[in-house]
Amino acid sequence: MEQLLNYINGKLQAPVGGTFIDNIEPATGKVYAHIPDSDERDVQLATEAAQKAFPHWSALPVGERSRILRRLAGLIEQNLDELAAAESRDNGKPVSLARTVDIPRASSNIDFFATGVVHFSSDAHYMEGTAVNYTLRHPIGVVGCISPWNLPLYLFTWKIAPALATGNCVVAKPSEVTPYTAYLLSKLCMEAGLPAGVLNIVHGLGPKVGAAITEHPEIKAISFTGGTATGAAIAAKAAPMFKKLSLELGGKNPNIIFADCDFEAMLSTTMRSSFANQGQICLCGSRILIERPIYEKFRDAFVEKTKRMKVGNPADPDTRMGALVSESHLEKVLSYVELAKEEGGTVLAGGHRVHLEGELAGGYYMAPTVIEGLPQHCRTNMEEIFGPVVTLLPFDTEEEAVAWANATPYGLSATLWTQDLTRAHRVAHQLESGIVWINCWLLRDLRTPFGGMKQSGVGREGGFEAMRFFTEPKNVCVKIS
Ligand code: NDP
Repeated sequence: MEQLLNYINGKLQAPVGGTFIDNIEPATGKVYAHIPDSDERDVQLATEAAQKAFPHWSALPVGERSRILRRLAGLIEQNLDELAAAESRDNGKPVSLARTVDIPRASSNIDFFATGVVHFSSDAHYMEGTAVNYTLRHPIGVVGCISPWNLPLYLFTWKIAPALATGNCVVAKPSEVTPYTAYLLSKLCMEAGLPAGVLNIVHGLGPKVGAAITEHPEIKAISFTGGTATGAAIAAKAAPMFKKLSLELGGKNPNIIFADCDFEAMLSTTMRSSFANQGQICLCGSRILIERPIYEKFRDAFVEKTKRMKVGNPADPDTRMGALVSESHLEKVLSYVELAKEEGGTVLAGGHRVHLEGELAGGYYMAPTVIEGLPQHCRTNMEEIFGPVVTLLPFDTEEEAVAWANATPYGLSATLWTQDLTRAHRVAHQLESGIVWINCWLLRDLRTPFGGMKQSGVGREGGFEAMRFFTEPKNVCVKIS
């Protein structure tokens, strides 16, 4: 059985402790590879390698760093088929999604920051007749990047690319649940000619490897994407060490549908925003608020489409709904369906595990689920489920929709469907949410600030925001008279 290895100091190597953990294929429930069960000793080696590489990497002309990273982006593109198949096998997501979204986006993340950094400038402030201030932006040094399992290579590259482009060296940990494409990326880094130690990938468990990265005194900044509870634990450790922190956390996003919307466009996009990647995208709109005059029309059409969604083998190019990432996650999502019933909800579609045949019999499949009749403030409507489960709520007024949309502790994204331009802007202005999509969903421009309010995070990624995060500003004031 294949054994994955850490990528430290430009080489693939086994963990110091010599132990490995199982890597399970969600489509079958079977172990198909082993991954390093690394610990703080591996993080120490990775940090030393990064420290050693930093003076050279940060001193390279920006065009040279950009060239190496663009070569890496090109290699991802060239290896699209292999990477997409690996992502689908590791995560359970449909291979069609990995081919069209995850892997192309991983390549464009790197390309975007590799080219963006060439245009990254800093401020100058002129004090009339007295002085000139200019701001230098230095790379921080060694930084830590910790990413989750839902969009594995996509989110891993979204962090490491701006860090590397701005001249930092990185110790990174992909999710232990989905390590495979990060492992393949290690090999591509070697092929691209990334100097040894610039990027180090340490595989293993969050409480061991993730915690060691968070606590290491020489790792000066942490960029983390994952659950809100993990983000809080990281912040508690990193804050007293005065580390820079970027936290992209959970969401419980509203999808607000007004009666005047373009119904067909809304319906097909709402299918995606509800169930894409088995509902395991932090931006999915899991609370669907519908203006009462079209409530029944929407509910009936949406439920019918949901019931027709076929759950199938992720490796089949026609599959649109694959497996959930793990057995424990499937159980968690199913437990929310039971909770919803206890809280008075009616399951209109799905709500159960799906058993496929043959090789796939042990896979973690679940029918897409629609629930109605829940009170607005119940736990099902407040807590992140992170699976193919949505709730429907009718509303009567715009004020009510906004109040309900803002009622959770989260504030990551919101979607809004209306043809009324004035209302669209008015409501967007009032939503407590880092991202608002009007008449669309997951339409991403990498230059825009990305992140959440409230318990959905601290800081923003994307565009120059990310490059500012990974650099330390220093103001230099020159007296001129
Ligand atoms: P987790 O918080 O469980 O894990 C995220 C990463 O942190 C993993 O690599 C994990 O390792 C690691 N980790 C776990 N414990 C620690 C620790 N004590 N110290 C340091 N690192 C640790 O999240 P999930 O992987 O379950 O991802 C799902 C969550 O991510 C959802 O809440 C979702 O909303 C959120 N998310 C947010 C996004 C955003 O942009 N705002 C985007 C995508 C997802 P291991 O896997 O080994 O446990």
